[in-house]
Amino acid sequence: MQYFGKLRSVAEGRGVWEPIEKAAGEYADEVARIPIYLSDRSSRRLGHCQYKKPVGRHTLHRGPVKTLVVKRIVLASRHWHRELKLSTNTLLHEASHAIKTLLYGKGKGGYHGSHGTLWRKVAREVGIKPDRCSESPEMRVLAQSRQKVVGICIKCSHQIRRQRALPRGRTFTHNACGGGQIVAQR
Ligand SMILES: [Zn+2]
Ligand SMILES: [Zn+2]
Repeated sequence: MQYFGKLRSVAEGRGVWEPIEKAAGEYADEVARIPIYLSDRSSRRLGHCQYKKPVGRHTLHRGPVKTLVVKRIVLASRHWHRELKLSTNTLLHEASHAIKTLLYGKGKGGYHGSHGTLWRKVAREVGIKPDRCSESPEMRVLAQSRQKVVGICIKCSHQIRRQRALPRGRTFTHNACGGGQIVAQR
């Protein structure tokens, strides 16, 4: 993972700082300073927003969070360099998470992880469609190419392909063939 720059300069490079600044309102300075990292290893996620542990136990339930709780935004390096329009979209998507968290706190505005109504409102303000995740055909192909056989069904010999090994200490059954046991491959 490589440090890339502060959010403001990265966003300016793609011509999208203005809508971010506007949506961030009183938190614009904090948002401007969020460190952006590029990761070579992200193959499934195009980007994500990491948070610091909030200070004090009840911080999240007392309305807007006054301290900076956004640690950094990580973007997939290949995606950033190869797919200009989509990766700019990803930057705006992650910036929306950061803005939503600063304005309304984490875990507020609903339901379903972090893509609830408040996040969607911010996403629209920065000018993106409030989709849960942005799609990248190139990243999907890359993710597929990294898959390996992690399990084999002893009943029908079906191979389970994933990027990561199956977690240890658990048994899995293959529902598609009526419940053959899956033997994990290491
Ligand atoms: Zn998201
Ligand atoms: Zn099977």
